[in-house]
Amino acid sequence: MARVPVKIVSWDEIVDWSRGLAFKIKESGFKPDLVVAVSRGGFVPARLICDFLDVTDLLSVQSQHWVEAAKAAEKAILRHPYKIDASGMKVLIVDDIVDTGDTLKLARDFVEKEWSPDEVRTAALQWISPVAKFKPDYYYIEVKEWTWFQYPWTRLEDTMQFIKRIFTEDERVKSRTVSEAELKNLFAEWYGVKPEDLGFYWDLALKALVEKGVLELVDEGYRLKTK
Ligand code: AMP
Repeated sequence: MARVPVKIVSWDEIVDWSRGLAFKIKESGFKPDLVVAVSRGGFVPARLICDFLDVTDLLSVQSQHWVEAAKAAEKAILRHPYKIDASGMKVLIVDDIVDTGDTLKLARDFVEKEWSPDEVRTAALQWISPVAKFKPDYYYIEVKEWTWFQYPWTRLEDTMQFIKRIFTEDERVKSRTVSEAELKNLFAEWYGVKPEDLGFYWDLALKALVEKGVLELVDEGYRLKTK
């Protein structure tokens, strides 16, 4: 069993899921005048939904998780909040996934209160029902077992974090050099996916981690760079 279960999501799946989500919205009779993407994960699904639902107006609000000082809990905050007059409009807020639900709920509450639209509804490609505190009005896939969905727009970012996590958390390799072959095996063990399935992102991630000074490349492989 993988320590962190990961599913690599393809671009084709994203198009399929967005089309399915748009179909559910259309079937319900809701026709948004304005789509709002929750930045950054909601950008691609929101753009595709505009295409499938024939919506021209697309805006975005950025919500980010913030670690509160001296608390382990994370809190979502809205970055760069701005005001528009959306009175008379039906608004659809779109994100990729509802996990804790904090992000989408924050965006929904903000738009409802500050933009004064006639109606606000929320949509996400995926909804992790056992953990989410918030259920979107529309979702395409209900996820029953928590998984990290490795979306195509965060391939590099995620791969870097996955590799770094092995070096910082796996007691077996913490303070030594690891060959690339061993690292690939550890990666498969930790995440249940093969580095080969990430295509060119594997090499890019290793290179970027060295450039950032997180890892160093030595003769026998990679090791955590000590400051
Ligand atoms: P939430 O916990 O619902 O506030 O999620 C915040 C954002 O983090 C989501 O919009 C995603 O972009 C990302 N995220 C959270 N959980 C996952 C997951 N299980 N898989 C992929 N991305 C996630």
